[in-house]
Amino acid sequence: MNTSPARHVRNAPFAALAAALLLASLVAAPAAGQERVDLIVRGDHVVTMDEAGTILLDGAVAVDDGVIVAVGPRAEIEAAWMADAVVDGTGRVLMPGLVNGHTHAAMVLFRGLADDLPLMTWLEQYIFPMEGRFVDADFVRTGMRLACLEMIQSRTTSFVDMYFHPGDAAEVVASCGLRAVLTAPMIDFPSPGFEGWDDSFAAGVAFAEAWRGRHPRITPGLAPHAPYTVSPEHIRQAVEAAERLGVPLSIHLAEDTSETATIRERYATTPVRHVAGLGVLDASTVAAHVVWLDTLEMDMLAASSAGAIHNPTSNLKTGAGISPVPEMIRRGVKVGLGTDGAASNNDLDLWEEVRLAALLHKGVGDRDPSVMPAATALCLATRCGAEAAGLGDVTGSIEIGKRADLVQVSLESPRLAPLYDVVSHLVYAVDHQDLVTTVVDGQVLMREGVVLTVDGAAAAAEAAGMAARIRDALGDGGAGDGMRADSQAIAGVLPLPEHLRWEHLP
Ligand SMILES: [Zn+2]
Repeated sequence: MNTSPARHVRNAPFAALAAALLLASLVAAPAAGQERVDLIVRGDHVVTMDEAGTILLDGAVAVDDGVIVAVGPRAEIEAAWMADAVVDGTGRVLMPGLVNGHTHAAMVLFRGLADDLPLMTWLEQYIFPMEGRFVDADFVRTGMRLACLEMIQSRTTSFVDMYFHPGDAAEVVASCGLRAVLTAPMIDFPSPGFEGWDDSFAAGVAFAEAWRGRHPRITPGLAPHAPYTVSPEHIRQAVEAAERLGVPLSIHLAEDTSETATIRERYATTPVRHVAGLGVLDASTVAAHVVWLDTLEMDMLAASSAGAIHNPTSNLKTGAGISPVPEMIRRGVKVGLGTDGAASNNDLDLWEEVRLAALLHKGVGDRDPSVMPAATALCLATRCGAEAAGLGDVTGSIEIGKRADLVQVSLESPRLAPLYDVVSHLVYAVDHQDLVTTVVDGQVLMREGVVLTVDGAAAAAEAAGMAARIRDALGDGGAGDGMRADSQAIAGVLPLPEHLRWEHLP
């Protein structure tokens, strides 16, 4: 979709637009009463996503050293501050960047490899074997570069990741400019580079120790994969380690009914009650999916420090179900939005999840169109999502003291005329091709639709090279006669040994 004619036309006069819109200051010193800052970003509409839902007309944000130092009417901001660089906001909405609360970013390299399968079949017969065979540090670096590009282009500025080789992922994220919570996966059976729990746990702890406080945009964490792939003792061990290290925990939780059945059979309880008993809800936990739970479990989550991440596309695609998000919000659960990995989505565009979340819940349950207003859906991907992901003090809204994670959306396409309600437009009408600017931590990562920190052509070429290796290894010879053949090859060539399947684990 990025190559649509509209986008092409808009990007063509880039040099002229950039010269007109990004005005490097010619003034040597601030005027009397003015203070100098690094950056001012303007917007015809500034949708702050603060608690009061403040929207400014003809507003601006002053940024210094990566922090938002002032928000207000443009005239007032520019009377008080003079910036080294100004991004114009004519015909644009300025809003906080989105927070993707759950993904496996490097899995973009498995995009479209195995679709239309039940969750456990997909995971066990396709994804785990593929990961065992192909995922290494090089795979993660290549996948993460491509994922960074996609996220920068689709207004995500922060994400919570759960994937292998998180140290390599961290180096790529540091260079591409995004903000991330990178959690190291730990699992009871063999996984890429690991024999089982002991070595994956040790590596996760070593990663968290190495990256704690090391980089301002990167938070390391631990990820016991799920209650059906990690034993109770090991989950407890992960919780204790996360608390000792002061790092967050991420986990898949209550994703589908086969998980519910497994947990009931093994432990005679439900997934949320099971992990609550192991201390998971007392930690800084980001729980992904949270589809199958009762109202008592919602109250347990609401009373806890944990956030629940709604992944509507992934849950629909794997037939997992629809999370009762409106009821969770009513009961005070901190809810955010995620894409999940691109192997089950099949992209990392959180913008799509906002619209889907806004629509989906109106069509189920009591079929109440007021159950998920546009502003609520947008909050799940901004301030509310940041709180659910443990980043509430850092990002998610345009407020003084938060880091400057900002995006500008153009309203100039005729598709968006007329404009009555800007929040309605952002949720129901705007497309990711309307995104023009992405700023993270005060650094401009995308300007006039051009990503500055990732070489898109090189990232795509690297990904194609990796895909060719995967096809070769699966015996398709890179003929490219459709990935469906590859899916069959994976199932035939790489089944997970019976004794390692999660349902046979003790
Ligand atoms: Zn996931």
